[in-house]
Amino acid sequence: MNAYLASVIEHVKKVHGNEPEFVQTVEEVFSSLEPVIEKHPEYEKVDLLTRMVEPERMFTFRVVWMADDGTWHTNIGYRCQFNGALGPYKGGLRFQPNVYPGIIKFLGFEQVFKNSLTGLPIGGGKGGADFDPTGKSDAEIMRFCQAFMQALYRYIGPDIDVPAGDMGVGGREIGYLFGEYRRLKGAWENGVLTGKGFASGGSLVRPEATGYGAVYYPENVLKHEGEDIQGKTIACAGFGNVTWGICKKAMQLGAKVITLSGPDGYIYDPDGVATAEKVDYLLTMRASGRNKVKDYADKFGVAFYPGEKPWGVKADVVMPSAMQNDVHMEQAKQIAANGVKYYIEVANMPTTNDALKFLMEQPGMIVAPSKAVNAGGVATSALEMAQNSERLVWTAEEVDAQLHKIMNTIYQMSVDAAEEYGLGYDLVAGANIAGFKRVAEAMMEQGVF
Ligand code: GLU
Repeated sequence: MNAYLASVIEHVKKVHGNEPEFVQTVEEVFSSLEPVIEKHPEYEKVDLLTRMVEPERMFTFRVVWMADDGTWHTNIGYRCQFNGALGPYKGGLRFQPNVYPGIIKFLGFEQVFKNSLTGLPIGGGKGGADFDPTGKSDAEIMRFCQAFMQALYRYIGPDIDVPAGDMGVGGREIGYLFGEYRRLKGAWENGVLTGKGFASGGSLVRPEATGYGAVYYPENVLKHEGEDIQGKTIACAGFGNVTWGICKKAMQLGAKVITLSGPDGYIYDPDGVATAEKVDYLLTMRASGRNKVKDYADKFGVAFYPGEKPWGVKADVVMPSAMQNDVHMEQAKQIAANGVKYYIEVANMPTTNDALKFLMEQPGMIVAPSKAVNAGGVATSALEMAQNSERLVWTAEEVDAQLHKIMNTIYQMSVDAAEEYGLGYDLVAGANIAGFKRVAEAMMEQGVF
């Protein structure tokens, strides 16, 4: 490996060694950059890479809230303003008990390159809290969100940092966060958060956007192989917002999602989550706050496999769409043994680095990386920002058409970047290089700091 790249990875391991997810994502992105760094010696001269792996700013804050029984609870809130070279920091908030600096930093780093790939003016950031929304009442969620925003509101803004949702933060939470921001600032401020409900200035199609984009992207891949998404079976994970959007778009295009998963196991539905009733039921499951995928099996009489992951199921397209590091070497081997041709990452960093490398080496298998595949969500957030600042509302057709176009462009940019550096049809390296190039150019233009 190029000596400069290797030295920056060493730096990350030394300084952030106690944040393995962050080290993992830096190693993954940097493994694609060798030809770019060799071609651009000026990057080393200004130590561009070390500046890229260190967030511009990251802070924690105290979030104190009252439970329904009158007891007080204290959580830690985070916001990482990773890189603002391309625009206001942009990225979601994750509420999950396992949230710690390593999770926020890995998500923030991914977000920088993902947002760059969209071609839109958004920098990268991420935040969240080690709060567990499972089983919390609506009033508890509201009080938590209000307390969270009381601590954060001074440090965000439409030209500064625009948060959105991520795991544990959906439309309801964004509504409470936005309401509290508006109350504290006494101003609507161009919407400031994205993923708002439609009545509060949210964009049509934003709830579906990540899932829709995650189907538009592989449409391009299949076309490249002379195939069609229609009639394909898809193995998915999770049953949240993203997977719901995938099921909905797949159903519209005549494909079917045959697995879903949750913390309790996975379900296998050979007929597919492919009726309006089934797709809508995912919303009911999420709203219940139970966080159990078994509810789907009970409702529709399909098989439930407690404590297992769906990666042993044979499908045409495999889409890990739940969370980071869901697919390890063992699952990767199962996927390869099943003869899967399309491995389309959806969740942020769903594959361990060794498993990803293994899958990419399988003859005939095409691997697409999450930072490209799931970028439709944040891209539509940028469209929501555009609508809010224009004081306009676009129709669902307009938003969906823009989203479709952006996903096609992301795909093409990745293909072109890999080709430019002589790497052939490599969607993983292509996305890393294309995402990197734009951030690097902006940072070079803006001087050293
Ligand atoms: N959390 C989402 C992501 O991983 C959305 C971020 C946003 O819309 O700002 O990209």
